[in-house]
Formats: sequence, structure tokens, C-alpha cells
Amino acid sequence: MPKTIIIEPANSVLNLSPGWQQQLSQTITETSQLLQALNLKPENFAHHSEANRQFKLKVPHAYINKIEKGNAHDPLLLQVMAQSQEMQLTEGYNTDPVGDLSANKTPGLLHKYHGRVLLITTGSCAIHCRYCFRRHFPYQQQQAGRKQWAQAIAYIQQDNSIKEVILSGGDPLVLSDNKLDELITQLESIPHVTRLRLHSRLPVVLPDRITNTLVNRLAISRLNVCLVIHANHANEITSPEIKALGKLKQAGIHLLNQAVLLNGINQHIDDQLNLSEALYSAGVLPYYLHLLDPVQGAAHFNVKLDDALKLIKQMQNKLPGFLVPRLVREIAGETGKTPANEL
Ligand code: SF4
Repeated sequence: MPKTIIIEPANSVLNLSPGWQQQLSQTITETSQLLQALNLKPENFAHHSEANRQFKLKVPHAYINKIEKGNAHDPLLLQVMAQSQEMQLTEGYNTDPVGDLSANKTPGLLHKYHGRVLLITTGSCAIHCRYCFRRHFPYQQQQAGRKQWAQAIAYIQQDNSIKEVILSGGDPLVLSDNKLDELITQLESIPHVTRLRLHSRLPVVLPDRITNTLVNRLAISRLNVCLVIHANHANEITSPEIKALGKLKQAGIHLLNQAVLLNGINQHIDDQLNLSEALYSAGVLPYYLHLLDPVQGAAHFNVKLDDALKLIKQMQNKLPGFLVPRLVREIAGETGKTPANEL
């Protein structure tokens, strides 16, 4: 698809919403405020303040707007609300479930798979997802902030088998347009790097982050750019997200989705069918459906393997193949994601 550059109006009077950085600074971090915004009462939840202390509630208003008021079981709310089950210690669950720490080569650079490396560009996210596999990750010691870029770039330069760099986090799109431009420019200067992949939840939790400046920077890159978004439920994809994703699509950015299969949120066949349809309508292909990573504090979200395999079979009966995501598990030490039917 030809790449389209978006022209920013010199003085746009149409967009009256606060900028994305202001929205980011106004995320809700107090449970009482979240409940008040949603007309819910504390007794609706088995809330646990220690769970919240360990991994603080964080949710932007743009995401809260998509949660049904008065519904304590809303699938978007359950992804962000700290609950008492998180405090149960579960055998087989740990704080580094996919072996990130042993794949660390320079601060914040993980080299697990042939031909690609992953950069933890920041420890910050716009939202805190309770099931996050990096909820215990020691970001202070393990991130490739600007000061560590030189080491990461040097590592990539000396290994010409590396064709692809994945920007991850945290969420790489919380970095400013200027910082991202600087980092991408450095990656573009390495001849053997041909692909740039960004993993971000911002297109569905803070769609105003998809600025014209960002879209244009990605569009003019000499690298083949792919953005892997992270939506778990069709309700996360409404008109602002469709508009943001449309800009990226129009600029020739490949758009894929990875979701996590979550008990109580998207384990029913209709949830998955609706998600695939909503993604495709927004120009995004379903890529992976991850079995839950066994991270301590998230065991209550787990869906049994047999049930997950049945779910995929049902999806295959109802959808064309390109709308059925690959059901996979990431296993520490493996050289790629493991298909669930091989587990
Ligand atoms: S946005 Fe991604 S990295 Fe951040 S908390 Fe959610 S799942 Fe984890």
C-alpha cells in the first residue's frame, strides 16, 4: 500500500480534547475516583489495597469512557481493577514467567529469538492491566532508556543476523514523538535492520496518542513498520480507536493484534468472534491469542488449555482462517512461541 503523509492543519480548532500527554498525566490512580466515575460502590468488589499497592491502579479517562456505568462485571473494568484474588500465591506462577531476565543482553535489550531483539524502552504504561506478565518486572534496572541506547545500538550493530527490532515496555508509545524519532533514526542507521515492530496498547487505551507527527514519522521510515496493538475485547474498539487505527493503516503501517485469553473477560466464543470482527473492521488482523503467562497475582484469569483449544475450534468453524488468531504460549527458554496444540 502506498504510504500517505498526513498534513497537520496549522491551527486546528476542531480538536478540542486535551493533548495525549495531558490525558496521560490525568490518568485515574485512586480506586475511589474510578468507582465514583462509574457509579459503583466499594462493596461491589473484593478490592484489596495491598494488591493495589503492589501494582497500582492506573487507567486513562479515554478507557473509562468505554466502561459501562454501574456494571461491576464490565470486561474492561475487570482488566484494571485490583482484586483480592491477586494476593493468593499459586503454585507454578512466578514473577518472571517468560524468562525475560535471563534473555537480557544489555540493560533493557532482550535477545530471545533468532533475527530479532526487543527493547524495553520505558517502564511506563498508560494503563495497568492486572494480568500483565511484566507486573513484577524490575524496570529500574532493566530498561533501555536514552542513556542505555548506545549499548543497545552497539549490540545490534555487531550482530548482522538481527533483522528486526521490537520496541516494547512498558509501552513504547508513552515516549514523546521526539524521543521515538531519535531512537528510530539510530535504528535506521544500522544497515542490516530492516523491520521495526512496536508493541503498544495505546491505540486502544489512549487513541489520541496516534498523532499525525507519529504517523508521518513511521510512514517515512526506511524500515518496514508493524504495529502490534493489544485489544482483548471488542468494547475496546470504538470510534476514536477506529479513527486512530485508520490513520496508521492509511500510512501503510501493518497492523496486528495480540490478545490474552482471560477468564471472566473474553473466554466466551461470542467475545472472541466480536473481537476478530471489530479488529478487521478497524483494519487490524488478529495475530496471537496468548494463553495467560503464569505471573504471580493473575492466576484467577487463567483459562484451562482444553477450554482454550475448544474455543479456537469453535472460532475456526465460524470465521475465515485469517480472522482466527494463533493460540500460543510463551515458554521461558524456547526459541519461539509454542502453539497451544503442541503443549
Ligand atoms: S499495557 Fe502492556 S505492559 Fe503495560 S500493564 Fe498492560 S499489558 Fe502490561
